Amino acid sequence: MSFASLGLSPNLLKAILEEGYVAPYPIQQKVIPALLRGKDILGIAKTGSGKTASFVLPILELLQHESQGKGRKIRVLILAPTRELAIQINDVFHTFGKALSRRVKTLAVFGGVSINPQMKALVGVEVLVATPGRLLDLVAQNAVGLQSTEILVLDEADKMLSLGFAEEMKEIFRILPQSRQTLLFSATMDQKVGEIHKLVLKQPITFDM
Ligand code: AMP
Repeated sequence: MSFASLGLSPNLLKAILEEGYVAPYPIQQKVIPALLRGKDILGIAKTGSGKTASFVLPILELLQHESQGKGRKIRVLILAPTRELAIQINDVFHTFGKALSRRVKTLAVFGGVSINPQMKALVGVEVLVATPGRLLDLVAQNAVGLQSTEILVLDEADKMLSLGFAEEMKEIFRILPQSRQTLLFSATMDQKVGEIHKLVLKQPITFDM
């Protein structure tokens, strides 16, 4: 199987090649076409499986076909458990986002640092990668609106729950539009992850990698 058969455009295929990715990993073979078809996805996958590119590439593919006028609000929200993971995900969006014909602004926000620069940096952001607590702080300060969110990705959901973010996550789900596409990635599947799954996913395709 090749990346070209997964439904990605030539500019992204070129960027993938430049990154040195020769063939898609199994998770990418499954998630990329399903995400492009608008499906909700439950992915049981660990770090190192290639899960980040599995959602970053099709999200960029979808966004690049949208007009710029629409692109002034948060369209895609990625929730991650830690600052490190949020930065890593944002870096992958930057790497492949450079290939697009229009600029898609992405930003990572996380706690433990001053909130003011993040508030300023949020202007014009379409893809926001956030840790749950800091996202709610920014919402409370009216620095960010989530009403235009079309795609929600929960990355390392089990870790977010084990770090005690369950209530924050539920609060965020309450303010997101009901009509949206949702992806949930978790290294493990337990009762807590199952509860979140029932809350956010609609008839998901499940991939156990
Ligand atoms: P992740 O599981 O998303 O943390 O990715 C693990 C590592 O695999 C990262 O360093 C990626 O750059 C790399 N990677 C992801 N997909 C591919 C691929 N198809 N071919 C080669 N390397 C890849």
